[in-house]
Amino acid sequence: MNILHVSAECYPVAKVGGLADVVGALPKYQNRIGHTAAVIMPYYKTSWVEHANGTIVFCHDLVIEGKTYFSEVIDVDNELGFPLFVVRITELTDRKNVYGYEDDSLRFVAFQRVALQWVLSLKRKLDIIHCHDHHTGFIPFMMQHCPEFDSLMKVPTLLSIHNAQYQGNFPHDMVGMLPRFRESDLGLLDWYGDINPLAAAIKCAWRVNTVSPSYMMELQEKANGLEGLLREEKLKCVGILNGIDAETWNPATDNYLIKNYSIRTRAKGREANKKAICDEFGLDASKPLFGFIGRLVWEKGADLLPEIIDTVLKQHDINIILLGSGSPEVERQLEELKTTYKGRYNAHIGYEERMSHQVYAGADFLLMPSRVEPCGLNQLYSLRYGCMPIVRRTGGLKDTVVDIGDGGNGICHDQTSVWDVVYSIERASLFYKDKKAFSANQKQMMEIDHSWENAAGTYASLYEEMIPKKVTIKK
Ligand code: ADP
Repeated sequence: MNILHVSAECYPVAKVGGLADVVGALPKYQNRIGHTAAVIMPYYKTSWVEHANGTIVFCHDLVIEGKTYFSEVIDVDNELGFPLFVVRITELTDRKNVYGYEDDSLRFVAFQRVALQWVLSLKRKLDIIHCHDHHTGFIPFMMQHCPEFDSLMKVPTLLSIHNAQYQGNFPHDMVGMLPRFRESDLGLLDWYGDINPLAAAIKCAWRVNTVSPSYMMELQEKANGLEGLLREEKLKCVGILNGIDAETWNPATDNYLIKNYSIRTRAKGREANKKAICDEFGLDASKPLFGFIGRLVWEKGADLLPEIIDTVLKQHDINIILLGSGSPEVERQLEELKTTYKGRYNAHIGYEERMSHQVYAGADFLLMPSRVEPCGLNQLYSLRYGCMPIVRRTGGLKDTVVDIGDGGNGICHDQTSVWDVVYSIERASLFYKDKKAFSANQKQMMEIDHSWENAAGTYASLYEEMIPKKVTIKK
């Protein structure tokens, strides 16, 4: 199958969260099982992009509301395991960050329009266009309802929802950014009085998937206003659990680690990594180390972290390390606690790929008190690195982490509350004292296979279902 992934993020080109990890790995695994998968994404001024070389393969003058933007598609030389195309548009794409600009709606609409113009120019027909999240949500609509893309009408589209909290909606008076379509189709773009690209994609994509089965169920109850739509469209929706790139995330070869280790050498390897990260953060490596990595936002339960840290460190002799950025108020509180608990708690407020790998390899436990977790990759990396996840039973966390009390390998709680998390930390601290059971659990966690191989096959089966079959009538 000839597959094109359209995405705002792709690791290592530009990453904000798990979306990048998925788009940076799934096509590679699809190519390995015999498909041809490529990625197209916007151009950003990240250091990866600035150090890359490429060839311009397509140019287009994009006209949006009377203004012309010069655009080009660049085929970027890479060793990622799939062809990578970036879309560069004058004024709109040469930015350092992926999101967070006032004209984000215009940027992503322009990106999608150029991407589809380029698709029109391709000699080899695509079998599937796989769209990821709201930034690419107008593509299924444009392919079905904009006359300039009529010839793409029969190409199946899949929408993967990595996070339904973010929907990219904007007021109707900006709808002129889209190419011409019949007025009667306007309703397909609308959701409760706004133009909503995620809603449009749920309505227009041939199939829709979320990144875990439990998240699919949860979204039908609560989806930031889209629950009714997801219930209506449930027959075309399915949950497919993400995998991990088991090559990038392999403690035996990970270049970010101080010492590489395998299941057999985990004790020494993890000890060295724990010491290194503790030294860097001024913590005591002889104490149990709890880590948190992630965006400091409500969905991740980050607002509760300051109180959790304060409560638990008042009562227990453990260490906590935190890596993340997000809400300025949470950042401020987490910074303040550094002085109160110097030597027992420390944080890096920011995004640092290297540190995240070292925390998975060095921390004994990883905290994930998420309120919403579409799949969650942190717990999968943490299992692979032998770091015990402590999770709230929600979304993908529910699908991938089973409590030790129920025969699993992690610690689970039901609510995102300070007391649930503190109680789980207390259970973890007790478990940590049983060195034999703790080490046996590390071995079991590291043996679990969450690599993309399985999930790549599941996506292929879903694509197969979508591709129209040729019917031959026997005479
Ligand atoms: P989400 O996409 O909702 O942020 P996921 O669990 O799906 O959450 O993916 C998070 C990814 O981002 C993981 O690869 C995690 O290691 C990484 N990550 C999150 N915050 C940071 C940070 N501050 N520094 C480094 N990596 C981070």
